[in-house]
Amino acid sequence: MIPRPTSKFLRVKCEDCGNEQVVFDRPSNVVLCQVCGRTLAKPTGGKAAIRGEILGAVE
Ligand SMILES: [Zn+2]
Repeated sequence: MIPRPTSKFLRVKCEDCGNEQVVFDRPSNVVLCQVCGRTLAKPTGGKAAIRGEILGAVE
């Protein structure tokens, strides 16, 4: 049996400019909005601390 991967990609909406961006849910670096530079996700050693509205997961 192969375990399902526990990490995934999330669609996150920037609260400042409304940009929707795909963010890895276990990033190793801070993820910034590509439009306005706002922090969208911070690494925590496990799942990211998302700083925005999570719209859903990306399959
Ligand atoms: Zn933004």
